[in-house]
Amino acid sequence: MGDVKHESVLTGGCLCGSVRYEITGAPLFVAQCYCRDCQKATGTGHTTIVGVMNVQLAIVKGTPSTYTNRGESGGSVTRHFCGICAGRLFTSGDLPGPVRMVQAGSLDNPNAISPTSAVYVKDRLLWDLMDPQLEQHQRLPPS
Ligand SMILES: [Zn+2]
Ligand SMILES: [Zn+2]
Repeated sequence: MGDVKHESVLTGGCLCGSVRYEITGAPLFVAQCYCRDCQKATGTGHTTIVGVMNVQLAIVKGTPSTYTNRGESGGSVTRHFCGICAGRLFTSGDLPGPVRMVQAGSLDNPNAISPTSAVYVKDRLLWDLMDPQLEQHQRLPPS
């Protein structure tokens, strides 16, 4: 508030367009996550996450479905996705509380962001090659 600079907005949504969101302002981080839960939840080798504060993320259309389980960190993790097309949208959880991790592939322009780090590298699959330039963490970076 009170910031007169033009604020950037990233828009995105699910595959069928039933759920749409907007991210206001710059992301906190962009990371590749290689954890087993992301592999199971997406059916891929890793997922690309855009970390934003909860106040930066607004659902502007529809209501995501959710699935909650216990993450490896011990806290609950809730995955938000479209109940119609199953497109993954973002993740919230106890740790880190106010941060939302938006699925980069759901952005309208995924090339607007670029990962700078890799987390849960310990779970990386042999065939899922990683950009060696990324800052690597075996689990999460120290907070
Ligand atoms: Zn959808
Ligand atoms: Zn993960």
